[in-house]
Amino acid sequence: MSAVRHPLVAAPLRAPRPLHFDSRTPLRRSLGSLFDLVQRMQRSLDPCEVLVALHESLATQPDYQGLEFQGPALAFAVGDAAFFTCEYTLQVDEEPLGSVQLHFDRAPDARARARVEARVNASLPSLRNALAHERLRRQACQDAMTGLLNRNALETILPREIAFAQRERLPLSVVLFDLDHFKRVNDSNGHQAGDRVLIDVARIAGQTLRESDLAFRFGGDEFLVVLPDTDADGAAHAAQRLRDAVGTEESIRARLGRGVSLSAGVSTLGPGDDAERLLARADRALYGAKDAGRNCCVESRKLASIASSGSSVIRNPSWPASECSTS
Ligand code: GH3
Ligand code: MG
Repeated sequence: MSAVRHPLVAAPLRAPRPLHFDSRTPLRRSLGSLFDLVQRMQRSLDPCEVLVALHESLATQPDYQGLEFQGPALAFAVGDAAFFTCEYTLQVDEEPLGSVQLHFDRAPDARARARVEARVNASLPSLRNALAHERLRRQACQDAMTGLLNRNALETILPREIAFAQRERLPLSVVLFDLDHFKRVNDSNGHQAGDRVLIDVARIAGQTLRESDLAFRFGGDEFLVVLPDTDADGAAHAAQRLRDAVGTEESIRARLGRGVSLSAGVSTLGPGDDAERLLARADRALYGAKDAGRNCCVESRKLASIASSGSSVIRNPSWPASECSTS
């Protein structure tokens, strides 16, 4: 066995052994310290915390190194990968929760295995509750169709991101973008094709933006991206990248027989700003982009100069507007 340890990363599991918990069977008193584990887990509605508590309880067992959990809504790993693994599918009262893979330096004997399984078993009711809570929390924050965060989530997340940026004296920008003439897509290609485009745009946003950026469905065909640690120039570049990626997306062109363009408004956090003011400026900039002929991006700080010269409108010269749905 190599002495080098690799931190665990959650990965798909193979052929796990079933481990079912029946809530009608009371935990036996002989399980002793398991009650401490259960009590600790019951205090948390965060599935990761429950799994960390399980990991810490398993860490008292010889040769145990780490665990990986894989469920429908969560992949989580803690500890180290090791030479020998035990895999279990987890179920409570017929309800499947996912799978867990336990890593050991050496294969545990039957008694050690029984101790480990008792701990995993004891964690299942808390894990089920925490996963159910996590699912509800995600549903409340997620747009069902695109999978992006929704406005509900924005109300919590944006003020938190703003407070962090102000405390750490970091820039923060937002890009508000709206598809151009999207009603025509519905009218010409049907509402279902329109839905597919919205789903594609959400996927493209996820692929085009940085991992730290947060994409929200603002409503209808309007999306908001929050870009932490990003100044106005960086945000304008991100908006431009997004516009190019959406406009040239092959799957959209194949489905509609033409591309879709978007208009974007960019605003950046100023001293003493709050979420409402930041969004209001992005909204005005987006209107500026629509007024400037669509298929473009406008920065709110340059909004005043657009009317006179149009020089603050960012376009991609290699991408004629006539190719897109701006005409
Ligand atoms: P503009 O360039 O001014 O943005 O024109 P637009 O046609 O895109 O108009 P607007 O953004 O005001 O309207 C958005 C349209 O998007 C209205 C509605 O038909 C369509 N839409 C909103 N939500 C959905 C949805 O969930 N699915 C589909 N298919 N269409 C939607
Ligand atoms: Mg629109």
